Amino acid sequence: MVPASTTSVLSHLRRRVTGAVAVGTAAALTLVSPAAAAPDGHGRPEHGGPPPVGHRLPKVPVMTGTGGAVASVDPVASQVGIDVLAAGGTATDAAVATAAALGVTEPYSTGIGGGGFFVHYDARTRSVDTVDGREAAPATYDETAFLDEDGEPLPFATAVSSGLSVGVPGTPATWQRALDRWGTRRLATLLAPAERIARHGFVVDQTFHDQTAANAERFAMFPATAEVFLPGGRPPAVGSVFRNPDMARAYRELRTHGVASLYRGRLGRAVVAEVRDPSTAPGVEVPAGELARRDLARYRAVDRAPVHSEYRGKDVYGMPVPSSGGTTVAEILGLVEAYADRSGTPTSEVDDVQYLHRLSEASATAFADRNRYIGDVPGVPAAELVSQGFADERSCLFSATSALPRPVPFGSPDGDYADCGESTASGVLPHEGMSTTHLSVVDRWGNAVSYTTTIEQTGGSGITVPGWGFILNNELTDFDFAPITPGVPDPNLPGPSKRPRSSMSPTIVLDHGRLDLVAGSPGGSTIITTVAQILLGHYDRGLAVGDAVAAPRLSSRNGSRESAEPAIAGSESGAGLTALGHRLSETAEIGAATAVRSLGHGRYTAAAEPERRGGGSAMVVRPQRR
Ligand code: GLU
Repeated sequence: MVPASTTSVLSHLRRRVTGAVAVGTAAALTLVSPAAAAPDGHGRPEHGGPPPVGHRLPKVPVMTGTGGAVASVDPVASQVGIDVLAAGGTATDAAVATAAALGVTEPYSTGIGGGGFFVHYDARTRSVDTVDGREAAPATYDETAFLDEDGEPLPFATAVSSGLSVGVPGTPATWQRALDRWGTRRLATLLAPAERIARHGFVVDQTFHDQTAANAERFAMFPATAEVFLPGGRPPAVGSVFRNPDMARAYRELRTHGVASLYRGRLGRAVVAEVRDPSTAPGVEVPAGELARRDLARYRAVDRAPVHSEYRGKDVYGMPVPSSGGTTVAEILGLVEAYADRSGTPTSEVDDVQYLHRLSEASATAFADRNRYIGDVPGVPAAELVSQGFADERSCLFSATSALPRPVPFGSPDGDYADCGESTASGVLPHEGMSTTHLSVVDRWGNAVSYTTTIEQTGGSGITVPGWGFILNNELTDFDFAPITPGVPDPNLPGPSKRPRSSMSPTIVLDHGRLDLVAGSPGGSTIITTVAQILLGHYDRGLAVGDAVAAPRLSSRNGSRESAEPAIAGSESGAGLTALGHRLSETAEIGAATAVRSLGHGRYTAAAEPERRGGGSAMVVRPQRR
């Protein structure tokens, strides 16, 4: 929701944030009293008890200032990060605390039971590094893991709500690994605000209510989930206080015993027991999983070198395999640049239809290559996929006056490029989720974190670990259940301890070694197109960072139809695209991005969604009027 008056919200927020600086870390979250903030009487604590945390914090989509910045989908979580920054924590400290808080307030998108990718910029060394916290398959899985007895792929919906789809959670290991490398606070300290929010509660907003309602039938299949997330058998009402004491206990467990409790201790035993024998409501049966304690014990969050590409004089860093995000965003940007070179007209100078046409053709082409080459297998030609030589060769398919027939064939990133290389018919992926959350953080020293974290589908597997209040991921449904193109190798089939291919695209852009932009989004495979569109919007179309995040989105992923938000589908641009041969499917919203732009001299603009997912929350430690 866009605040009615940005000025009054800003000055209100300034008072509050200044208070946070004075008071220090999480204590600042109680500064907004429910009585003062809820004149309409909604959201009062039920049954007495302590007030909910961060009641009715304003949601501001764009904020500029100094001292550090946090942008996330949720004001309570952003405030947690701001408090850490204000108290002298690093971007990594703040990102971990914010992510943990999001695990409470966005439990259907992220949390202890999921995974993600953490990209970090070190301002002192001017280097970018990543931590891969992707979930891993059990060691017993092979290519047939998602086939039935007849060798047919399981129905997708059956696989989603099952133990079979649960991978080893990577999120707690990611937090610990990131803190070991770039943190200055202990995990126990940084998880304290999340534990408090889970214990004391937060106020249910429309998005939380709607996500619960959309999952109510699925959650009712699992009594432990229904008990936590369908109190009284119903989705919690908007304005009521939602408490999750079981999840508070899980955070307390991690604070006390460290992440070892999940990977080698009693939290892990509870996870394994539930995955191997999910507790279901009478008459409900779901496929069991094979996760074992040794899978948890052998799991590591892995340090990986980022994918690096150059775009219009900037250095773009993203996530490597097992994500397809880094290479595919880079290939899209490279293709758009190649189209501009071929046509002789820069992307900044074409009209909206031609710009969106370029974006769509580049996206479809890059997705053909992604689906063919990217997966958690040896020998992925990542450097070739992001090379300008390959993009130049692939750009020969482009026509300014008509859309390529879908599916666009895949190319050969073999280092040997001609004007127009060989391409081969490709298949299209039927399913990819739309959940997840992204946070963008910068600290006062200019260190930055771009962190996308998920439990895959909204509501994950639907399976809550009994007594611990968090939902397990269904990340393993990101594997291809069967080869997508008969006769063509598929790098994303399930395998032992393999990590499923992701689309998550946490991105950091540097300008001559200095931080320029942090960006990312949820949205399954649309993440890639959303991040590419934000970068193009900002760097090519002259949009300020907040406008680049808010701009209407188009997502072409090489299917016969491409998703377009109503502001494109129902506009002259939509008609123009249709005339070029694009087949648009109107989609209410695509993604829920956040970003931070560095303005130099320690000033930052944090940006979140004004409207998508109910609006996000951009904050800086010391706001300035723009
Ligand atoms: N599982 C998805 C991926 O890793 C993210 C989930 C989503 O955004 O829907 O690409």
